[in-house]
Amino acid sequence: MMSTLNRRKFLKGGLLGGAAATVLGTKKAEAAHSFGGYPESMGVLVDLTRCVGCRSCEAACNKEQGLPTPAQPFDDQSVLNQKRRTSEGAYTVVNRYEVPGQDHPLFRKIQCNHCNEPACLTSCFVNAYKKTPEGAVVYDASVCVGCRTCMVACPFYVPAYSYSSVLNPVVKKCIFCYDTRLKLGRPPACVEACPQEVLTFGRRQDLIKLGHERIRSNPDRYVDHIYGEKEVGGTAWMYLSSVGFENVGFDTELGNEPIINYVKEFLTIVPMVLTIWPALFGGFHLLATRKEAVKNEQQANKR
Ligand code: SF4
Ligand code: SF4
Ligand code: SF4
Repeated sequence: MMSTLNRRKFLKGGLLGGAAATVLGTKKAEAAHSFGGYPESMGVLVDLTRCVGCRSCEAACNKEQGLPTPAQPFDDQSVLNQKRRTSEGAYTVVNRYEVPGQDHPLFRKIQCNHCNEPACLTSCFVNAYKKTPEGAVVYDASVCVGCRTCMVACPFYVPAYSYSSVLNPVVKKCIFCYDTRLKLGRPPACVEACPQEVLTFGRRQDLIKLGHERIRSNPDRYVDHIYGEKEVGGTAWMYLSSVGFENVGFDTELGNEPIINYVKEFLTIVPMVLTIWPALFGGFHLLATRKEAVKNEQQANKR
């Protein structure tokens, strides 16, 4: 896993090279310290000590979000032999970890963590992302120009790019079942589907209390830490574990600062980039979509 310093360098480099810098208006950077998340927002507490790697959550997400049927069915456990990342066809994946000293494997479900101060949101110069009061980080494909800055900025490597529609770029990720469930007060599909009660849906503040209670009552079962309570400014999805989080694929060197704070200094150095790149990328996108429209028109005229 990348060290904190390397990650910061990577973000700075990525932001410059990938036009991400464009992106971060000074106002956004200034606002980063002042926003503490929505106090009544919802979240999910993921208790890794209970997960058996059955992939029911993956199947439920796939169905709820209308994602394509995967090449390997959800009851095929052989996919657990590789470490997978979320993708345009899988907004959540479960990975298996063999941890020295443990007599059984551990499993970890991955999806967007719905950060309190999301790097994807603050890095997007066309404001394609929104943090809703309910706690979801949602994405508006209609304004996205496909620069993929959010993919570089996300500390958890979550947003996936839909390569099937290059001229109409779409970023794909877990949206906390916002449209179909969260905004109606219902738990996400993956939460409802879990047979082991690994996933607890509730007010983020209550989940933090619940997590600490579980740790206090079972000190031999859990390490004394809720991952996501404070990391990168706090996340809506948080985790309990029986082993150090670095053993189950978490980046334990991210720190508690929101990611945008790492690039504030950089942003003040390159105001020109901030001015130029949005126009350039907007122009490229318009050019691409215009070309496509002309091509479609020509093809229609030939018929
Ligand atoms: S995990 Fe990544 S994609 Fe999800 S809200 Fe945080 S920065 Fe955005
Ligand atoms: S919250 Fe909804 S979109 Fe996100 S992983 Fe669970 S089922 Fe999928
Ligand atoms: S449904 Fe529950 S037990 Fe099964 S893999 Fe997902 S989180 Fe783990």
